[in-house]
Amino acid sequence: MGPDMVGKLEVITGPMFAGKTEELLRRVERARIAKKSVALFKPALDTRYASDRVVAHNGRSLPCHVLPADINPASFFQIVPGPLWESTEVLAFDEAHFFGPEFPALCEDLVKKGKRVIVAGLDLNFRGEPFGPMPILLALADEILKLTAVCTVCGNPATRSQRLLDGKPVLEGPEVLIGGLESYEPRCRQHFISP
Ligand SMILES: [Zn+2]
Repeated sequence: MGPDMVGKLEVITGPMFAGKTEELLRRVERARIAKKSVALFKPALDTRYASDRVVAHNGRSLPCHVLPADINPASFFQIVPGPLWESTEVLAFDEAHFFGPEFPALCEDLVKKGKRVIVAGLDLNFRGEPFGPMPILLALADEILKLTAVCTVCGNPATRSQRLLDGKPVLEGPEVLIGGLESYEPRCRQHFISP
């Protein structure tokens, strides 16, 4: 294995509206400019495998493959065609907090195969608790970028995501809500209301 074949795990994290997806797409685009082959993935909350897009809040988007959220090393290498992952040098995963407990093992497998793996996801859920596989990914990472957003109350750097319904903080409910009426605001530690 030459020096270019040594794998690496990079994690981009922080609250909502911190620019995690923008940073992921920036790294993907830079890798493409460097003539690396890149594949971009995101979790589905059903079990389909399809093509879709990763969209950042700034409107930039790139096509991606959608993986079942409960992906594990065995199912990944079954679902994703061999020629795709074998020839790909950089594998980027958005919304990694939605992947299941086997996802870090998949990242480790890919890194051992010499891949550069880049993962972006929320470190904390709306209650301010570590989110899904992110704590393990952060522990295994070779490199971490922790971004902040801007607190909507005071303007200081925000590290947390407040879930709101009718303008009021929601402190209970599932981690994943799809198509709900609630919204989210970035908050600093002082202005984040926790259960
Ligand atoms: Zn604040």
